[in-house]
Amino acid sequence: MGKGGKSHEETKSGEDENMAAWLVGLNTLKIQPFKLPPLGPHDARVRMKAVGICGSDVHYLKTMRCADFVVKEPMVIGHECAGIIEEVGSEVKNLVPGDRVALEPGISCWRCDLCKDGRYNLCPEMKFFATPPVHGSLAHQVNL
Ligand SMILES: [Zn+2]
Ligand SMILES: [Zn+2]
Repeated sequence: MGKGGKSHEETKSGEDENMAAWLVGLNTLKIQPFKLPPLGPHDARVRMKAVGICGSDVHYLKTMRCADFVVKEPMVIGHECAGIIEEVGSEVKNLVPGDRVALEPGISCWRCDLCKDGRYNLCPEMKFFATPPVHGSLAHQVNL
């Protein structure tokens, strides 16, 4: 992987299209393109190196649901993962491209009182990889 802006050009040219494992129906996974939105100022883009298959992924595959969450539209599965930082948003100060990271699958806001208090698992804005409507991380690249 090149440094800095290189990945952008590769993505644009289509030679390095981001592919992911999509749950498209009962017991049906498909490897399909996964277009990522532009990076926000607090976001980072990670090139995935390893993604575990969790019990919840298998549950979604077999039943299209997990607890109260129901898969109504195709969703990228996977949430226990590790990779390498490829690009960071303008406000990100604690990561640089090339850093090796293990990802916390629950993405909290880090700005509310609960988050600032260290109880980010209770954040009302919590988003969780591979929990509708949030896509998972079984992909070449993800944003977080
Ligand atoms: Zn899990
Ligand atoms: Zn929060």
